[in-house]
Amino acid sequence: MKRLILIALTGLFAIPLTAQTESFTERFYESYEDYREPSIAERRIKHADIQPLIDALADKPGIEVRRVGASIEGRPLRLISLGRGETDVFLWSQMHGDEPTATQAIFDILNFFAAPEYASEKTRLLDSLRLHFLPMLNPDGAEVFQRRNTLGIDINRDALRLQSPEGQALKRVRDSLEAEFGFNLHDQSTYYNAERTPKPATISYLAPAYNYEKDINEVRSRAMQVIGYMNRIIQRYAPGQVGKYNDDFEPRAFGDNIQKWGTSAILIESGGYSNDPEKQEIRKLNYVSILSAIYAIGSGSYREMGLDTYEGIPENDRKLFDLKLERVTYPLLGEDYIIDLGIHRFEVDTPDHSDFWYSSRIADQGDLSTFYGYETLDGSGYRLQAGKVYDQVLPDMKAVAKLDFWSLLEKGITYVRVTGLPQKTPSTPFPVHLVAPSFKAPEARWEVGDNPTFALTREGAVKYVVVNGFLYKPGSREGSGKNSMILR
Ligand SMILES: [Zn+2]
Repeated sequence: MKRLILIALTGLFAIPLTAQTESFTERFYESYEDYREPSIAERRIKHADIQPLIDALADKPGIEVRRVGASIEGRPLRLISLGRGETDVFLWSQMHGDEPTATQAIFDILNFFAAPEYASEKTRLLDSLRLHFLPMLNPDGAEVFQRRNTLGIDINRDALRLQSPEGQALKRVRDSLEAEFGFNLHDQSTYYNAERTPKPATISYLAPAYNYEKDINEVRSRAMQVIGYMNRIIQRYAPGQVGKYNDDFEPRAFGDNIQKWGTSAILIESGGYSNDPEKQEIRKLNYVSILSAIYAIGSGSYREMGLDTYEGIPENDRKLFDLKLERVTYPLLGEDYIIDLGIHRFEVDTPDHSDFWYSSRIADQGDLSTFYGYETLDGSGYRLQAGKVYDQVLPDMKAVAKLDFWSLLEKGITYVRVTGLPQKTPSTPFPVHLVAPSFKAPEARWEVGDNPTFALTREGAVKYVVVNGFLYKPGSREGSGKNSMILR
């Protein structure tokens, strides 16, 4: 009943203030490139990459930088604050070391605030708010691009026991600020989609529950209203690509506890976006989403949002493959079978964690009609054929580089034998696997867990080739992949 009244009341005033702020938020998207921080353009950013940025911010008028703790390995955690207002808003990112998208967006947002443009709007905003950013809460994890900290624990399951210095710092800052709003910024799997649609959940939101009953009190409903507002903005730029994260209560998690401690907690998860492996488009959506939320809080316009907008956001589902092949013919022991193949491309870090290669796997096979692909091929009428081995053995990588790869792929050749394979690197940028001279051609059998490497033929002719999960169409020379494997 209470909720009905809230929706009815807010409906009366919905148009003017919201419309005003919303038209202003359009400028965030349009002028984004002016504020994008160019020095952190790839995901594997490290603590050392952001220190000069924080140092430079500390010199700007109106920006205050404070050391609020350190990681287990001694990397300082610094809080960047600005504004003079009554309402404290606290944002922290990357408590999981391999989830850097919002860290990048935070520096774009800080560039926006440090720039001379929109001075009167920003003055008004910073008169009502005080903003606090704690970027890269888990710098030790970021150093090796892993979720957990150096203790090997998930900081997001440490809100009660508080064994990690990173978790302690987060709790200490939250308690000292008693912030009205808290933004818990993460990345999620790129394989999440908006429920029962092929669209990736590029951004997912959650107002975490503070008890098992998932009750909605004032603190949580404020978070839901801000999310409803952000959703409306992001739908413009990524229509249908917003999901709602699972709201089961997790008593050990920070978001859930921060909600319980009285700060309206808002979880933002950066997911996947087509052809955006470094998640730079998603970073931009983060920037727009967070800045819009800050404006909606500053202007109070989020209060006009009914909870129905939040509740109407589709649930996250996990039904995406990088590549889905539908209804291919699998000849096995004299019979033909029709199957779908779902392929995932997994990232494997280079030893210094500054880059990665893909090691792909068949993630599932069979009837996958309830799943979707970032890339989908209707394989009706195409027959699976094992990849072939090139008949010559090449001496070294120089000889490999001279090959006409499209003509090899056209013959269904996916493996090239090389005597002098490089010793260290396990991947090659060429579109065929490089193998030792003793390599035996694989059987025409496919199972979950296999590296997806095969040809698709029609009337005996090779029409498509898949190598390490990347799809090539040699007839028209279409398709590209980041890498194949070196198999010794
Ligand atoms: Zn996370």
